[in-house]
Amino acid sequence: MKQMLIAGNWKMHKTLKDALELAYQIKNWVATNNLRVEVAICPPFAFLYPIAELIKESQIGLGAQNCHYLPEGAFTGEISPPMLVSIGCQYVIIGHSERRTHFNESNELINKKIISALNFGLKPIFCIGETLEERKEGRTFDIIENQIKSGLQSVENKLLHKLIIAYEPVWAIGTGISAKTEQIEEAHKFIRKTLQELYPNAGDNILILYGGSLNGGNAKEILSISDVHGGLIGKASLDNREFTKIIEYAEQID
Ligand code: PEP
Repeated sequence: MKQMLIAGNWKMHKTLKDALELAYQIKNWVATNNLRVEVAICPPFAFLYPIAELIKESQIGLGAQNCHYLPEGAFTGEISPPMLVSIGCQYVIIGHSERRTHFNESNELINKKIISALNFGLKPIFCIGETLEERKEGRTFDIIENQIKSGLQSVENKLLHKLIIAYEPVWAIGTGISAKTEQIEEAHKFIRKTLQELYPNAGDNILILYGGSLNGGNAKEILSISDVHGGLIGKASLDNREFTKIIEYAEQID
């Protein structure tokens, strides 16, 4: 069976009560299903600790949606990797297109965050992907290659087993229109080739997730694509039934 991770990115949604309720529903579902796939949820910072407490003896992993690259300092409003580790996080999303777009995160900054997260023992879910304009201009592969090479600059080989990549075409995020099977297949193949060239000994084993309007209706088809090792899910991860339906499909794939 191929290794899979189904990760929910809750973005800036829910109140504490609603977030705990959703985490509780997912925890209960997971407890009654003997899962082979890895499941993780990435709630907003404010809810990480109470959710860490709620899911601590479950099979569900916990991730943050961002982090600073330094361990501590005078950076008002920021959260560091060791802080995340100290409250029970195993994952952190880095370089999401919403952070690149709305918070001007550059490939260089993302690189620092990835190195720091790995050094502190977190598994970065490193997001890459082209905009619609870049795709129309035929620059998809150049963009992805540049994001990978800049984002992974000086990342040590021995830490690569913790790295996860999420291919998220920006035009498919939150639009309700996922990329087509052939587009996903082609992009994942290209990402794999780029990783193999960069890391001849480790490039084969890095998980590559797909993200962009993945839901209960298209999960079966998308998760069956050969080099898709799971999904990073936004909207559909906010609903217990929709999210667990995706996990169910992931479980069925050999
Ligand atoms: C995301 O934000 O990572 C994402 C994939 O969102 P959605 O599933 O809503 O497109």
